[in-house]
Amino acid sequence: MSDSNVRPATPKDAAAIILLRQNTDPANPEVFWVKRSDKLAFLGGFHAFPGGQIDADDAEVAVRNAPNPETAAMISGAARELFEELGVLIVRGGETLTKGQRVSLLDDLEAGRMTWSALLKHYELYLDARDFTFVGRWVTPPFNVRRFDTWFFLVTCPPKQEPNVIAGELASGEWLTARDAYDRWLQDQVVAVPPTLHALRTLADGISPDLVERFLAIPEAHGRPERRITFRPNYICFPVRTPTRPPATHTCCYLVYNSKEILIFDPGSPYEEEQEALAACVDEMIAEGCTVREIILTHLHPDHVGGVNALKSHLGGNVPVAAHAQTAEALTDVHVDRFFKDNDVITIEGEPRIQLRVLHTPGHALGHLCFHDADRGVLMTGDNIVGLGSVLIDPPQGNMRDYLDSLERMRSLPNLTVLLGGHGPAIATPYQKIDEYISHRLERETNILNAVRDGITDPKEIVARVYTDVSPKAYGMAERAVIAHLEKLRDDGAV
Ligand SMILES: [Zn+2]
Repeated sequence: MSDSNVRPATPKDAAAIILLRQNTDPANPEVFWVKRSDKLAFLGGFHAFPGGQIDADDAEVAVRNAPNPETAAMISGAARELFEELGVLIVRGGETLTKGQRVSLLDDLEAGRMTWSALLKHYELYLDARDFTFVGRWVTPPFNVRRFDTWFFLVTCPPKQEPNVIAGELASGEWLTARDAYDRWLQDQVVAVPPTLHALRTLADGISPDLVERFLAIPEAHGRPERRITFRPNYICFPVRTPTRPPATHTCCYLVYNSKEILIFDPGSPYEEEQEALAACVDEMIAEGCTVREIILTHLHPDHVGGVNALKSHLGGNVPVAAHAQTAEALTDVHVDRFFKDNDVITIEGEPRIQLRVLHTPGHALGHLCFHDADRGVLMTGDNIVGLGSVLIDPPQGNMRDYLDSLERMRSLPNLTVLLGGHGPAIATPYQKIDEYISHRLERETNILNAVRDGITDPKEIVARVYTDVSPKAYGMAERAVIAHLEKLRDDGAV
């Protein structure tokens, strides 16, 4: 199969600060973590450390004792982000600044009256690299279209300064021990990315002379993108490169596991090196004592099933494949051994016990399935809801009325805390995201209905009038969606 021409996005420079409490207990250190605002497009609702993208002006700041200009710019950007997000200023020469003076400096910066570099210069403040301990550089894996190459610095909160979440990018923040923070993740209370979890685990083992060494002991801390992404315990997201629909370049294969068994969802890559990487991950888990119970398919699309046969033969051919009967019927190259019906329950015994309820959720495809872990608040959404890009409803597999019904059904599930979709990162704002999807479709429907009432009947003309927010390149797909909307309106008796 030919390679896709779509290249992953280039990572942008970013920096983040892991803020340690002053005089914290080295055996059980406290850190300040934040919850990102639900409104943010990048990792909204995630727990993380303060930080953000580097500005051009950050490099204008002279940083004493920095080993090179690149490190200086990263330190400067990290310090600015910390100041902007939490009001904590890590500078020298500013020890006598009062709280009120810091607030007024922040106001100058936020209002754009002064740039960061000009502000430091004006008040004769300076940054010193010795206040910032480099503890790793993490690159967002290529399955996300928003990618960052983030430098992490460990910093001790200065005396008489207290972080204060400034409304905007962050929803909240708090001091807590790294151990408690990590436990909260283990208890399914938060969603976080690998560098955050790595930092918490490392600090939970205490501040020792080899702390930095422990931070840097894995290749991911040196810019190698993580392949096994655990947004949640017992759920590995293993994105594989696929010939999928832009902006996505990858499909999320999921490995749901416990001490005994593994379920593998949507091994979708037709590319050999991606299949090998997934097989190596599965082999490692098998070596740790797990067996593969089943390969499960959310739906029939090639970017979700392209690696099934390769994985099956790698595993000796005996692992069954399970899917909805309508998926099985439509697949010619993949044999399905077991059919799921709506409300079937998959239980994997072991530690911890995991139960997934199968939801038949047609709309994107006839036999589309979602999987609901009610104990953990996890919903695996396949292509019904994705972490990036949009969902295509393309008749006859696609059906708009079914799709909206499926979204409503997902919306009605209690206690959802995370959505794991077929493309892009996890979604930590489940109900907000489902509502967005529903209102987006209903808005389109209203506009299409108005166009029809104005006498426009050709789907191409409807696209030109209604899809003013999409590029003409996507008109072909929009036309399919218009047909799906018209079918629904016809079935509803509206046209
Ligand atoms: Zn699909």
